[in-house]
Amino acid sequence: MTTFSHISILQKTAGITLSKPVQVTLYMLLSSLVIWTVLFSTYPAVHNTAHSTRHHTLGVACH
Ligand SMILES: [Zn+2]
Repeated sequence: MTTFSHISILQKTAGITLSKPVQVTLYMLLSSLVIWTVLFSTYPAVHNTAHSTRHHTLGVACH
C-alpha cells in the first residue's frame, strides 16, 4: 500500500462519516437515546425531576 492510497482511503472515510446524512442519523439516534433514558429512568432522582418537569412544562396531570 502506498502513502497516496492510504491518504485517499482516509479522505474517503472522512467524507462518508462527516456527510450530512450520517451526522443527522447519529444526532437523532443519540438524542433519542438520551430522551428515552431520561423519560423511562427508574432512578428516583432522575424520575422525580423528569416527572415534575413534565408537570410544570406540559401541564400533564397524571395523579
Ligand atoms: Zn405526575
